[in-house]
Amino acid sequence: MTITYVYGKNLYINLTNRCPNACEFCLRSTGDHVGDSGSLWLEREPAKEEILADLKKRDLSQYAQLVYCGFGEPTYRLEDIKWISANVRKISSIPIRINTNGLSDLIFGRDTAPDFAGITDAVSISLNASTPEKYDAVCHSEFGLQALPAILTFAKRVKQYVPTVIMTVVDTLPADELEACRRLCADAGAEFHVRTYSEDWTG
Ligand code: SF4
Repeated sequence: MTITYVYGKNLYINLTNRCPNACEFCLRSTGDHVGDSGSLWLEREPAKEEILADLKKRDLSQYAQLVYCGFGEPTYRLEDIKWISANVRKISSIPIRINTNGLSDLIFGRDTAPDFAGITDAVSISLNASTPEKYDAVCHSEFGLQALPAILTFAKRVKQYVPTVIMTVVDTLPADELEACRRLCADAGAEFHVRTYSEDWTG
């Protein structure tokens, strides 16, 4: 069972296979791994203690970043992320990032942004579309048209607690849609990253 895996210069943590979305570009629909990670489908969710033990087997100084990103939405395990990050901070100065779909407020039914204070240096949010309808058409979220407004609210809020907030889109979007996403991102005060549509969903 793959709990942590290396991709490029970073070390990734595969916490869960739960996700409220079914994005059309999701690697989960076309494969089971990233690079040589091995299958990212989990037999069960690893306990937070198992994750920390797995991390401690590695030399964290060898990686550029530690990233919560696997075959699912990491923030389902927000409480465990807090615990893991606090323990990693005791043994390493490795920069930490959480890759998220930005839907934790809807997952938990509350404002989750304050929970991110201190547990990560960066949050990377998949924006994917510029309107609730377009988002729903691509991401098929169980939250329907509520999803995109909640993501934008989350992005603005979490910026108050985390030094770096990035919003990403894939480079297959038409130019006008890319520009509309860029404006939403600027409104939220986040950095805008256009990621290559390829095997790599980890950036
Ligand atoms: S939010 Fe991420 S894990 Fe979930 S379906 Fe979309 S790409 Fe896949």
